[in-house]
Amino acid sequence: MSSTNEQQTRSHGKRHCGAEFFKAKTAELAEPGDHQALGESAARSAKKVNELSAQIPGWQDWREAAAAVKLYAISNLDKLLVEFEKNISARGVEVLYAKDAEEANRLVIDIAKKHNVKNIVKSKTMVSEEMALNHALADEGIRAVETDLGEYLVQLADERPSHIVTPAIHLSADDCGKLFADKLDEPYTAEHQKLTDIARRHLREEYIQADMGISGVNFAIADTGTIAIIENEGNAGLSTSAPSVHLALMGIEKIIPSIEYLPVFFHLLGRSGTGQKLTTYTHLIHGASPGRKMYLVILDNGRTNDLADPATRTSLGCLRCGACLNNCPVYQRVGGWAYGWVYPGPIGSIITTQLLGMEKAGKLPFASSLCGACSEACPVKIDIPHQLVHLRKRVVNESGSFAKMAEGLMWKGWAFAMGGPLRYRLTMKAVRIGSSLAKFLPWHPLQMGAWTRGREIPKASGPAFRDRWKKTQTKQK
Ligand code: SF4
Repeated sequence: MSSTNEQQTRSHGKRHCGAEFFKAKTAELAEPGDHQALGESAARSAKKVNELSAQIPGWQDWREAAAAVKLYAISNLDKLLVEFEKNISARGVEVLYAKDAEEANRLVIDIAKKHNVKNIVKSKTMVSEEMALNHALADEGIRAVETDLGEYLVQLADERPSHIVTPAIHLSADDCGKLFADKLDEPYTAEHQKLTDIARRHLREEYIQADMGISGVNFAIADTGTIAIIENEGNAGLSTSAPSVHLALMGIEKIIPSIEYLPVFFHLLGRSGTGQKLTTYTHLIHGASPGRKMYLVILDNGRTNDLADPATRTSLGCLRCGACLNNCPVYQRVGGWAYGWVYPGPIGSIITTQLLGMEKAGKLPFASSLCGACSEACPVKIDIPHQLVHLRKRVVNESGSFAKMAEGLMWKGWAFAMGGPLRYRLTMKAVRIGSSLAKFLPWHPLQMGAWTRGREIPKASGPAFRDRWKKTQTKQK
């Protein structure tokens, strides 16, 4: 296993990777505790967002505009990245590129060592989860503390985030109280305000002693060389301004061409993510302030695979709002861990497959009912179901010859059986006979696969309508 993959696997903890989605019962893959509560919480968020957006007459126009801007940005990434880099480095920011997680970790560690960094405060960055950065830093004796409340809880619990916006959605107030009592030696409480006060008090100390702050990037604006970060807790503001060194991490797809498009994304992201008209804090960072040092690491890590696939490249426009997760019946049932990597839910099934490759994540595109609720909710109109179907096709075509041949034969057989009334009738007769004979076998031949083993095979109903009708007609005569 390459060290990159090893780091990525380590970020999974003891859980299965995406490729294992169907090898175990989904209940075994999902977060421990109350799955129903997780599903209800996600569904509640979805309802709130859907009601809020329905009240806005221009909602569909905003979505159209944002989708068009993102498509333009993705189609012109090469030029826009150069323009962005030129503008932001002109104000003293050192810009570095990394082709994969391993290289990005090496860059961050080198920068940390150069500035003699021992303690880091981190605000939310999904890219750092991809890199398994906290583990890589810990191996070098550098301590990194998450400051987003949800991420902080998940880090204390030594777990993985189960949602891209609300990472600790699977933890109840009672869980948090026990966690603080256990890890922070605080008196147990399940009161929300008291829990927040405890986290705040501990995190203040972290900001004071931190030598470096690491943040993500929501938007990188090419024409002004600005990075935009939005948040609700004030932790990103403190992480980027309290320590003397700020390092921002972003994927290549965060680019938008001009600052004039920013408002439409702010309108959409706050509402789609958390049902807010606007997030509480908006930071526009144009460069390093006097006496401070700022770095920006821009990561590919498989994004160019997605870019090279015309059928899925619009998935790079994802704002990471989480609306598709909240609306997804599969996510609501299994939660985030079942997807095995950093990005769960419908969009995760696309991104993970493109970033990690078919071999590791090729099962994920099949983890969808294709109901379309995700694309209806998506603020940038990513056509998730069609992209999943496209990836399914690729998985089959690029998989081993046996799987491809078996599926090909199956569909050829199906097309033949459905190809005329006589063939159809004979097939249905054979199914009925087979179904009644199967009960005498010790195991059902259709239950040999992992997916079918956990499910009941529907019984063939009695005589076909056609036969019953014929019988009725004969009786009447
Ligand atoms: S795909 Fe769309 S709905 Fe899902 S997280 Fe990305 S922007 Fe949000």
